[in-house]
Amino acid sequence: MKILMVVFLFAISFQSKDEYVCTPCGYECDKEVHSGSGKCSSCGMDLVKRSSIKI
Ligand SMILES: [Zn+2]
Repeated sequence: MKILMVVFLFAISFQSKDEYVCTPCGYECDKEVHSGSGKCSSCGMDLVKRSSIKI
């Protein structure tokens, strides 16, 4: 029972994991996914959460 709970919590945290992408700017680096916030290594723009981008 305890193991099931751990697996369940892990699944939730995995789904809510934020993926950061480059601010859509038309370059190839738009498609790269980063695991944390920061600056894009290609164009230097801020990385934003993928879930915050609405197309
Ligand atoms: Zn970029």
